Amino acid sequence: MHPFSYTRASDTRSALAAGRRGGRYVAGGTTLVDLMRETVERPRTLVDIGDLPLRGITGTERGGLRIGALVRMAEAAAHPLVRTAYPVVSQALELSASPQLRNMATIGGNIMQRTRCAYFRDVTAACNKRTPGSGCAARNGFNRTHAILGTSGHCVATHPSDVAVAFTALEATVSLLGPDGGERGVRLADFLLRPGSTPDREQALRPGELITAVEIPAHPRPLGSGYLKVRDRQSYEFALTSAAVALHVRGGVIREARVAAGGVGTVPWRLPAVERHLVGERPSNALWTEAAGRAAEGARPLEHNRFKTDLLKRTVERQLRVVGGTR
Ligand SMILES: Cc1cc2nc3c(=O)[nH]c(=O)nc-3n(C[C@H](O)[C@H](O)[C@H](O)COP(=O)(O)OP(=O)(O)OC[C@H]3O[C@@H](n4cnc5c(N)ncnc54)[C@H](O)[C@@H]3O)c2cc1C
Ligand code: SF4
Repeated sequence: MHPFSYTRASDTRSALAAGRRGGRYVAGGTTLVDLMRETVERPRTLVDIGDLPLRGITGTERGGLRIGALVRMAEAAAHPLVRTAYPVVSQALELSASPQLRNMATIGGNIMQRTRCAYFRDVTAACNKRTPGSGCAARNGFNRTHAILGTSGHCVATHPSDVAVAFTALEATVSLLGPDGGERGVRLADFLLRPGSTPDREQALRPGELITAVEIPAHPRPLGSGYLKVRDRQSYEFALTSAAVALHVRGGVIREARVAAGGVGTVPWRLPAVERHLVGERPSNALWTEAAGRAAEGARPLEHNRFKTDLLKRTVERQLRVVGGTR
């Protein structure tokens, strides 16, 4: 581990001042400290934001839900507002990591977490995300767990977060506070960046900016929702594929559909072709199969992850059956 200094911010203003000077925010520390131990990350100053008032879960004036950036994953998963109105969020969190990690890790840290690509974490391997311009060992290496959607010649790593997939389906926004006090909201779908030619740039976060909350907008129609995660073992494992599904069915017809996938994209992957296939139709097993058949449109599998194309379709189909109610 490289030497670093540590400071615990007592209020938001001092945290932002330290962020402006180049300090790196740390919340639960469950991923950043790991990466520092492996010397993948080498911040010179850690700014502990654990005392900032970013812990509430509240309904918004506009009828949505605001989850503070420092809310622990376990707390968000168990919160009555989240469990009842957004089961897809609650389930995605409960299927993440382990109970110990969920008790420590925060919502802000979760969406900021970096890829689990083994080459990224091995400082002797070529990796454009860790060392721009060095190459990508995964492209021609062992790429079974890598992405099939949104990849570039420079990087094929997946975004590992589960709850970000649920947030993407629900069109959540990330609330940000800049060192100059300026606030802005960015849709999560715009906040998390595809690799393109700059895979080292993963989020649309400006220098010193702090995530203060994630906001789920109000939905004019109530959505039934749920999350399915497929992985190599039953617990404590990242997704090979996952599906977040939210549907509004009225009068026997699907009026609204939100579907996003995890484990397959360089960012959480919204599936508009699947959604379009569903809206206006009556739920049936045949419909779920047809719609899910469009889930992997545009996929570009690598040597070892071709199985993800079919697995993604089956994951989406199964979760459509669960949420749509024809299983
Ligand atoms: C063994 C293991 C298994 C895991 N399995 C899963 C899984 O199955 N699914 C899943 O989704 N996740 C999984 N995770 C990841 C886990 O969810 C993350 O480690 C955790 O959510 C990170 O939150 P944290 O508060 O500890 O972040 P930290 O480690 O404190 O920070 C992570 C990053 O976010 C930045 N950051 C944190 N808060 C803010 C903020 N408010 N504003 C701006 N920047 C901020 C930090 O600077 C840092 O870059 C796993 C982790 C481990 C170690
Ligand atoms: S896939 Fe991305 S993170 Fe993995 S080695 Fe290639 S450039 Fe690095």
